[in-house]
Amino acid sequence: MFSRLRNDFPILDTRVGESSLSYLDSGATSQKPQCVIDTFTEYYSQRNAAVHRGAHSLAVMATDAFEAGREAVADLVGGAPEQVVWTKNATEALNVVALGIDRASHGFGGEAAQRFGLGPADSIVVTEMEHHANLVPWQQLAQSTGAQLRWLPVTDAGELDLSDLESIVDETTKVFAFTHVSNVLGTINPVDTLVTRARQVGALVVLDACQSVPHMPVNFADLDVDFAAFSAHKALGPTGLGTLWGKTDLLNSLPPVLTGGSMITTVTMEDSAFMDAPQRFEAGTQPVAEVAAFTTAVNYLAEVGLEKIFDHERELARVLLDGIAKIPGITVLGAAENRIGTVAFDVDGVHAHDVGQYLDSQGVAVRVGHHCAQPLHRRFGVTATTRASTYLYNNTEDCEQFLAALAEVRPFFG
Ligand code: PLP
Repeated sequence: MFSRLRNDFPILDTRVGESSLSYLDSGATSQKPQCVIDTFTEYYSQRNAAVHRGAHSLAVMATDAFEAGREAVADLVGGAPEQVVWTKNATEALNVVALGIDRASHGFGGEAAQRFGLGPADSIVVTEMEHHANLVPWQQLAQSTGAQLRWLPVTDAGELDLSDLESIVDETTKVFAFTHVSNVLGTINPVDTLVTRARQVGALVVLDACQSVPHMPVNFADLDVDFAAFSAHKALGPTGLGTLWGKTDLLNSLPPVLTGGSMITTVTMEDSAFMDAPQRFEAGTQPVAEVAAFTTAVNYLAEVGLEKIFDHERELARVLLDGIAKIPGITVLGAAENRIGTVAFDVDGVHAHDVGQYLDSQGVAVRVGHHCAQPLHRRFGVTATTRASTYLYNNTEDCEQFLAALAEVRPFFG
């Protein structure tokens, strides 16, 4: 099945110089199957209109397409369609939560202040392996409210160090925000244990699911998280679209950050009342074509099966890790057993940017730099790494092309 579905991704036929393309940068963004690409043409040639307000047939079709996207996502990650809020990307989704809490902490009043209000006696907990998207907004919130920012450290094996979990996440903790899967180490975190601790102290749980939802079965309702975020573009969908998932009562009491048209019930010259979720967070004209394309992507993933995708990528991860272990002078960051096919490494004596350039000359696309995780890199004593990351369309040949090129890097740079 996996060798066949590769043909659905036209970009994988691209030649890089003399080489075929080995695309191992899906952790940054995924490639798109033809059916997702076609959805754009189909949407703009047959269904394009403004959603929700139109009194004509095209508007009804566009609205149906837009709302069907929520249903597809709810089928994928659990919960009900109204728990699915569209945002620009995962970064925006996480900011909507952090900034909403900020507003609740600064005079928004009512239920919002009671449920979400933070002050100097409170703490926010993150982890040392967060992508900046799930760190910087919480730093900003801590600075704005006076709450203390704490974090769980990471072990040499690239796993969360839970030995002080009970003292780090304590009765002062109001928000516990962590990633499901590290975008650098590939480690899958023990969400159950973390949620259990959050529930003991009454903290809100915010899950960064950017690197889990595309690669493994994930059900936010079963995981019992309060909010979760992920991006469409990492899951075969288009750029410009993210998802904020939340528990309905929490979404309906979280203050919206973006306000204006399409999210209000009544407006006077003095004041306005807001709609319930999801519209509450969807001010202005929405990315309808992107939602339609993402719906196609979600259906495609469901058809292949996330369990199968997970197993396939774990096999590829094994090929990558075993192969890298045979090449002298390469240090992999973290060695977690419970992982996806994302492998970041340091090449002794060669800067990651040079590694990336050499690999590109051999047709291999990887990511280099700090991968928006500077604190994690600092933790491992490096400033930059090279990261290979797989997806469902990769095969063993992609990994072998990468390993053959990697083996040449140190000899090439002398
Ligand atoms: N969180 C994680 C773990 C990520 O890997 C990424 C993207 O690399 C993000 C958040 C941010 O996603 P986006 O840039 O699509 O908002």
